[in-house]
Amino acid sequence: MAAAVTTELRTIGHWIGGEDIRGESGRKGPVYNPATGEQSGEVDFASTHDVDRAVDVATAAHSTWRHWSLSKRAELFFRIYQLIDEHREDLARLLTAEHGKVLSDALGEVQRGIEVIEYVCGIPELLKGDYSEQASTGIDVYSIRQPLGVVAGITPFNFPAMVPMWMWAPAIACGNTFILKPSEKDPSASILTAELLKEAGLPDGVFNVVQGDKVAVDAILQHSGIAAVSFVGSTPIACYVYENGTKAGKRVQALGGAKNHMIVLPDADIDMAADAAVSAGYGSAGERCMAISVVVAVGDAADPLVGAIKDRLPKVKVGDGLDPSSEMGPLVTREHRDKVASYLDSGPAQGATLVADGRETAPDNGGFFLGVSLLDDVTPEMDAYRDEIFGPVLSVVRVGTYDEALRLVNDNPYGNGVAIFTRDGGVARQFQFDVNVGMVGVNVPIPVPVAYYSFGGWKSSLFGDRHIYGPEGIDFYTRTKAVTSRWPDPATSRVDLGFPQTR
Ligand code: NAD
Repeated sequence: MAAAVTTELRTIGHWIGGEDIRGESGRKGPVYNPATGEQSGEVDFASTHDVDRAVDVATAAHSTWRHWSLSKRAELFFRIYQLIDEHREDLARLLTAEHGKVLSDALGEVQRGIEVIEYVCGIPELLKGDYSEQASTGIDVYSIRQPLGVVAGITPFNFPAMVPMWMWAPAIACGNTFILKPSEKDPSASILTAELLKEAGLPDGVFNVVQGDKVAVDAILQHSGIAAVSFVGSTPIACYVYENGTKAGKRVQALGGAKNHMIVLPDADIDMAADAAVSAGYGSAGERCMAISVVVAVGDAADPLVGAIKDRLPKVKVGDGLDPSSEMGPLVTREHRDKVASYLDSGPAQGATLVADGRETAPDNGGFFLGVSLLDDVTPEMDAYRDEIFGPVLSVVRVGTYDEALRLVNDNPYGNGVAIFTRDGGVARQFQFDVNVGMVGVNVPIPVPVAYYSFGGWKSSLFGDRHIYGPEGIDFYTRTKAVTSRWPDPATSRVDLGFPQTR
């Protein structure tokens, strides 16, 4: 009799007070290997009580962490940087195993996260305040930045290492303690991160992880011990988190979804634009908030551009992310794959031209694959244009003029990223002035700002006042105090009931 084959499922728990902790709610969710379609693990879902525990531990840790000197914090962040750098491939492999993105892309994700850690190694410089000597006679005024206390981050499935790094690195460097609620779809990177932070010497309780779903999110939003929440995910949930978090008195930055346009003017280098459209449209299987989703072909650019994109598609190698020859992996879940594929029916039914059908080219091995797909003649009323597809389906909208292209972008409810391809510097400059979008690329399709600028969209792509990481990230995780000070000087001491004068 053949022995039964049992595949052990990995269990992923929470990280509270420097320890890997099993949840007590009894609720769990499946984690898949998207390249095979098989379940590889299960993740505990936190109860409200689990979140309470994490807040208690983070609150206790904050009372000592906030006393750490700036130079000690900087020294620790150099160690964190070094350790994560040494383990970048381990992190990337976890991302590929649970998200599906190809390993080279996963390494790129880790790199863009590490750059934010590198930025906050300069925390003594970043937290410098202002000083005005002799603001009034014998009086000096200065400002200091202080941490908020316990802060939380709620993150999406598509960047399971980088987006958390964008939050926890500045938050902790600023002197806060942190609770991460990662996506339940790919939770393992959060635990490896926690282990590395501990190994680097971060005190227990400064970084905590609660896994889970809406229950954990709601507990975070309601908890009076949490001062601020950073969120990255889809627009409806971003709006929900912003409304409920601010109603509970918290500072909230909530980054939402996107529909990123790439305008190609007739004078653009068509080959360069086609390379960029393919790279930015299909990289990470289109599951990037900065992915190009719509190519806006202006005037005579349209036919050669669609032809050049079409020529490139058969060469894109789709397969398991661990296979070094793969350029594009699967989508994150079967459900998401099927939703993305549905636009290949609704698009043509609503009048679009299906130029490339990824259902025909996807590997057929049970994984959540969809090949690269192209819809031409898309118009703004179609579902393929209106929805954030978040998959490897690129749409081409044809317009007659630059003004029509600009109007299309500005009328769109999202405002995360946008790109313009042209050789005309004057038009590009006018575009950056006119466009209502937070991040603009000129002949650059994915304009994710470097770590010393800040990342964030406009309109329905961000709820709140502060972008994430960079100088605005430091602002978000600190509050300023202005001190007005005078030292005893009998010559200037008298009773004066008038409003304080400045002269
Ligand atoms: P999502 O909104 O479904 O989930 C994000 C987080 O919210 C997860 O941690 C999830 O557990 C939690 N969540 C889900 N449903 C919830 C509910 N009903 N109540 C409370 N919490 C809930 O997003 P996703 O599918 O994980 O990620 C993809 C989305 O994120 C896309 O829309 C993408 O554009 C967006 N995104 C935006 C940015 C940006 O910077 N603007 C970056 C990355 C991803």
